[in-house]
Amino acid sequence: MTGDYGYTGKQAELLKENPRSIFDNAIKKNDIAQCLIKTAEIHGHYCPGSALGVMASLYGLSKFKSGSSDGMERLMAIVENNSCFVDGVQAVSGCTLGNNSLVYRDLGKNAVTFTNRGKKEGVRIIVRNDFRYVLDKLVPDFYPLMEKVIRDRNGSKEDEANFKAKAQEVSFAMINVPFEELFKIEIVEPILPSLAPITENAICEKCGEMIMSTKASTGKDNEVLCRSCAGSRYYEVEGAGIVEKP
Ligand SMILES: [Zn+2]
Ligand SMILES: [Zn+2]
Repeated sequence: MTGDYGYTGKQAELLKENPRSIFDNAIKKNDIAQCLIKTAEIHGHYCPGSALGVMASLYGLSKFKSGSSDGMERLMAIVENNSCFVDGVQAVSGCTLGNNSLVYRDLGKNAVTFTNRGKKEGVRIIVRNDFRYVLDKLVPDFYPLMEKVIRDRNGSKEDEANFKAKAQEVSFAMINVPFEELFKIEIVEPILPSLAPITENAICEKCGEMIMSTKASTGKDNEVLCRSCAGSRYYEVEGAGIVEKP
């Protein structure tokens, strides 16, 4: 079979063998700019938050290399918010919500802990409280524009375009700042959840959709229902964090 999927033939071969080969190469070379670009592919824009996630993850990976992918030794990331920062972590570390190696602990802090499953030690990387001061010196226009466009939702089309340009400028500038000016680190004993359980499926007797049996509710007549049909409570990850619904 042929086809290069938009890559050169050689790259396509490498990517079929290891889907992260281009990313892994950038990580190995500590090419922060390329990691930032790859991150923006999923994040959708350049911003200091995702750049911080990229930098923190490159540091974390240098301390805790990804183990074999047998699920026992693998790299784990514990994030403490669900902001732009997390997409930098997911992209660079490869620890994602979908592959269960990302733990989202709803503490509202700009920090990430890396460890390997089975290890008693982890490194927690915390964004310094005064990181804005560093960014302000790099691109003085960035924060005033951010306040106008994002916080006050009061920017003109021109401000929005300017803000986008400044966000890109500050993101590519800050990756050259020494790590210690932006982050603190501490060695911690991380608390990891147990491995994701393998669950049976059940069918909701009302809507007929398949659900994980662990998420099934029981109706008045003992019937199996999904939470939507049963009207039972569930949790949702949204901008505010983890929220109980409805
Ligand atoms: Zn962002
Ligand atoms: Zn249902």
